[in-house]
Amino acid sequence: MSKRSTSSAAACGGGHGAAALSVDEALQHIASQAQPVTGFEKVALRSALGRVLAKDIYSPIDVPAHTNSAMDGYAVKHGDLSASGVTELKVVGTSWAGRPFSGPVAPGQCVRVMTGAVMPDGTDTVIMQEQVELEADTVRIGGGHKGGQNVRAAGEDLSKGQLVFAAGKQVSPPELGMLASLGVAEVVVKRRLRVAFFSTGDELRSIGEALSKGEIYDSNRYTLFAMLSRLEVDIIDMGVVRDDREATKDAFLEAARNADVIVTSGGVSVGEADYVKETLDALGRVSFWQIAMKPGRPLAFGHVKDAVFFGLPGNPVSVMVTFYQFVGPALRRMMGQSDISPVPAFRVRCESRLKKSPGRMEFQRALLERDEKGELVVRSTGQQGSGLLHSMSGANCFVILPKDWGTVEPGTLVEVQPFYGII
Ligand code: AMP
Ligand code: MG
Repeated sequence: MSKRSTSSAAACGGGHGAAALSVDEALQHIASQAQPVTGFEKVALRSALGRVLAKDIYSPIDVPAHTNSAMDGYAVKHGDLSASGVTELKVVGTSWAGRPFSGPVAPGQCVRVMTGAVMPDGTDTVIMQEQVELEADTVRIGGGHKGGQNVRAAGEDLSKGQLVFAAGKQVSPPELGMLASLGVAEVVVKRRLRVAFFSTGDELRSIGEALSKGEIYDSNRYTLFAMLSRLEVDIIDMGVVRDDREATKDAFLEAARNADVIVTSGGVSVGEADYVKETLDALGRVSFWQIAMKPGRPLAFGHVKDAVFFGLPGNPVSVMVTFYQFVGPALRRMMGQSDISPVPAFRVRCESRLKKSPGRMEFQRALLERDEKGELVVRSTGQQGSGLLHSMSGANCFVILPKDWGTVEPGTLVEVQPFYGII
């Protein structure tokens, strides 16, 4: 059994014994290696939800398609209205949304219109129904109305042929609705990314098995499954791989054959899982990094055959933190998304004392909430052990503390990154 030594530390400034890599350096290196997939497919509109557009989309129609009323009221010709006094007009019909008024509108006449109804020929302005007096079939309209008011012009939102979405846009609820509003039934999206993952460690048991002394249930595969499920990728769960030379090699080869990306957990820390390192040295181009972050210090990254490989640490919280900081953005890039900017972080006052030593960027779990005055503040969830998934579950944000900072005293402005976005 070969022990991993400092001399095997890989390139890119990482490796055991070498200077630790900053989070930004690691992100930059990963970004340079993660290329978008080129394959694409045509899918029905609903199936495009969460997928990434592979082609620019141009509007096939004017939106709105016809000039129509923005209000319930009366369609008039502005020129018929007296500038200051009262004008009386005869109501000659109604234009409903979806059922236009077809006749002509002569001087002295107007048409009742509903919101969304096509403007009758000869009219250009809508007077809100609250602003007229109606008596039998005559409306009385006061002065001061602007020509063209309360009217939506054809093509005002989008004109035919205009770029609607550029390739690289991920389809979320508003895009799905907007594509439907254009009558788009099918869209060309990037092919799904295939992501294989497995856990390493002799101490791991699967759910349903009894635990012997020193054994634990494999939870990382479930966390990974859950995080990957949110990303609209194809998931290949390869189970637990024993700390064994052949099993490790077979697992990596199979994963590289079937997937674009391989994610493992465990087996990348110092003095651990010699077979992982040995196998990767033989099959791939993988760097073993020490990252100046907490949790999540050890991280392996590179290629196994043609697949991009992430070797995450084994600790359950480290898995989540490194996934969100490194794997997620890389997967989104590979899925073809053009905008992979991280969830916006913002600054709020921290009400707790956060223990920290300078030297590593920390991702502490915390609660963003309102204080008695209704102001947004952040409070620690307490225990920050990287083995406690509880500290993720009880939190709703990360507090991101810069590498150089020491302990944070209450009242300090800190950067928070919320766990969930609205869309
Ligand atoms: P390692 O990075 O392999 O040294 O693992 C670090 C810690 O995480 C150890 O306490 C492991 O038992 C634990 N761990 C590793 N893999 C898993 C897993 N799949 N599920 C839960 N805990 C794990
Ligand atoms: Mg292990």
